[in-house]
Amino acid sequence: MNINLLYTIQDGLQFALTVIKVYMPEGPSLVIIKEALLQFKRKKILHASGNAKIDMGLLENKKITDIKTWGKHLLICCKDVAVRIHLMMWGSYRINERKETQPRLSLQFENGEINFYNTATKLIEGDLNKIYDWSADVLSDEWDEKKTKKKLKAIPEKNICDALLDQNIFAGVGNIIKNEVLFRIYVHPESIVGALPKKQLDELVKEARNYSFDFLRWKKEYTLRKHWCIYTKKKCPRCNIPVKKKYLGETKRRTFFCDNCEVKYL
Ligand SMILES: [Zn+2]
Repeated sequence: MNINLLYTIQDGLQFALTVIKVYMPEGPSLVIIKEALLQFKRKKILHASGNAKIDMGLLENKKITDIKTWGKHLLICCKDVAVRIHLMMWGSYRINERKETQPRLSLQFENGEINFYNTATKLIEGDLNKIYDWSADVLSDEWDEKKTKKKLKAIPEKNICDALLDQNIFAGVGNIIKNEVLFRIYVHPESIVGALPKKQLDELVKEARNYSFDFLRWKKEYTLRKHWCIYTKKKCPRCNIPVKKKYLGETKRRTFFCDNCEVKYL
């Protein structure tokens, strides 16, 4: 293979990977999509189509009763059935607009349409309250600190960087939130859950939610990146020494931390 072509492919791949790492949506981004879609609440779906392998007929002539999120899931709810949409790495959506590619799911209304592309799309029949633990969602009104601490106490041997990404405990937390929360509370990502003192455990649970709301606000203002303290940073803003970057935990996700001010509890 021509060496220049090889470099071009590598550059392209690197660029694509950078985009994924930066833009893989976390809980707050789903809340922004939900808010944009709320205009379709109580509207009737006249036609459902797309290349998702779901029974489109189950959606047609149904009214949207609500739009919800649970962590990184977007839920378009109708009577007796809901569509679960996960944006994965490449997912996108358009409201009253279309991309050139075929949509995974297209919902037509009397005045408008929603189109989703490259999403993981599934129908859920039955009571969502039986399927989803809303108290695990860091952005939910039903978020429950006590229950979260109980779940953490059940996994004392886990690395804190894995626990934060566990969607059954912190639904909506993604890699950016993980890095920033740990920096905020001065906890090293390789700390063990069971070794965290009570103060740090309390702060972890509190800040997972607080930071997620900050993320939401900054994302709406287009200032999220400007507010990153440790994620993708070269120097620790507190210690002015180089930031460490490692692929840590079972999840092997990109982790940025300061060896000096983030304490490792083992
Ligand atoms: Zn530091």
